[in-house]
Amino acid sequence: MQIMYRSTRSSQIRATASEAILQGLAPDGGLYVPEELPRYTKSLETLAGQTYQETALDIMSLFLTDFTQEELKTCIDRAYDSKFDIPQITCLHEADGVSYLELFHGATIAFKDMALSILPHLMTTAAAKRGVSDEIVILTATSGDTGKAAMAGFADVPGTKIIVFYPKGGVSAIQEKQMCTQRGSNVHVVGIRGNFDDAQSAVKRIFSDEQMKERMAGAGKRFSSANSINIGRLVPQIVYYYYAYGQLVKEGKIRAGEQINITVPTGNFGNILAAYYAKQIGLPVKKLICASNENKVLVDFFTSGSYDRNRSFRLTSSPSMDILISSNLERLIYRIAGEDPDFTKKCMDSLGAEGIYQITPKMEEGLGDFYGNYASEAETSEEISRIYERSGYVIDTHTAVASAVCRKFREETKDSAAMVVASTASPYKFCNTVVRSIRPDAGEMTDLELIDMLHEISGVEIPQAIEDIRTAPVLHDTVVDVDEMPQEVIRWLDL
Ligand SMILES: *Cc1c(COP(=O)(O)O)cnc(C)c1O
Repeated sequence: MQIMYRSTRSSQIRATASEAILQGLAPDGGLYVPEELPRYTKSLETLAGQTYQETALDIMSLFLTDFTQEELKTCIDRAYDSKFDIPQITCLHEADGVSYLELFHGATIAFKDMALSILPHLMTTAAAKRGVSDEIVILTATSGDTGKAAMAGFADVPGTKIIVFYPKGGVSAIQEKQMCTQRGSNVHVVGIRGNFDDAQSAVKRIFSDEQMKERMAGAGKRFSSANSINIGRLVPQIVYYYYAYGQLVKEGKIRAGEQINITVPTGNFGNILAAYYAKQIGLPVKKLICASNENKVLVDFFTSGSYDRNRSFRLTSSPSMDILISSNLERLIYRIAGEDPDFTKKCMDSLGAEGIYQITPKMEEGLGDFYGNYASEAETSEEISRIYERSGYVIDTHTAVASAVCRKFREETKDSAAMVVASTASPYKFCNTVVRSIRPDAGEMTDLELIDMLHEISGVEIPQAIEDIRTAPVLHDTVVDVDEMPQEVIRWLDL
């Protein structure tokens, strides 16, 4: 079955998978979605015996149908190799009655590596397939983790450049250090005076600016996106939910066919949307539990059917989830609106103009797959300490938000199905909060001392990504206002 992609905002725009990956965002500002969802038809028993790479090939070939098996296999083998610090690529860790799916074993120790280690390969393969000779310029807004993972993936990849915008002061000290020490002659990192939503909206505007497009075309360049609006990121994220299911079967925690629940710490709604697609194509999932931090716009949406970003933005200890405009929700809206691009466009226009939209009661029924709740800053800290006290396992702040919400879900619903909690970052990435949650009496300490203390507490080896930044020189220190972002792009690309 050949899967075509269309825009969430108009029925005119269609693209193959490789075109959609190259473009990132559809030309009308909408997001590409599969016109039809494929079905996973292999037996769930066989999943238990497969490697990550084998499952990746099964899932990705269902969606990326204009890539050959050989092309996909090459991309997969190049992506999922010794850059990951465990040969299985990802693994489950059982603690306190739930299975934490550790998605942070890649080069930058956050789950973004799961997709961003393969996206550059998919993109350069797509460009070669389509005879595109333009230089591909990746423009990315980051809440902290995407930027580093995207640069790690694209650094020194021939035929590409990458520009990353991050909120200055809105990411953890380690995240900032990781980004600003990035090597590679084709990478540029820029702090902005604003928050993640400002950065993301400005990047979307640059993408759809006609004058900018002309300048780019004139210089033999074209933009693409490494944000989770690119289906080349979404599809690889479906893989690990299948892989995790296979591991649960293998460990005897479930029978093949039995339903599980999945909790995902959510910001831009990319990771949980991948879990939703996994369910839609055949993975036995009962509930998708959407966990937010104090920026709980999604929780309110799930309870009221109204998406309202008019509220104050909070900086929390889980900065990768400090987001009020969850871009990928647009894909869910499109789906539950019966794949109606006009309705979706109306909602998104209203979000842009008034910061709010309302779905219909009928659409609310389509949200039955989801449960939404949030964890406050205090609850997040308590959860880190609680899990540590009960099992000796140390989780990061984002995972702790998910873990706390998972517990609320279980208490409220008495649902005892096997639970997978997406564990999205290594605790080393958010050392300060993690250490102080477990050792509230820890005094003044430098970042490096905190790292050593976390090593003592957890007994987990210090990841290479952390060792690297201990000594790496800062190579990037540009900071601009939000309205200077287009000019910065023009300047650095010499347009
Ligand atoms: C990006 C990120 C999230 C949120 O994922 P979305 O796909 O944006 O919902 C959660 N945790 C960590 C550590 C992240 O880097």
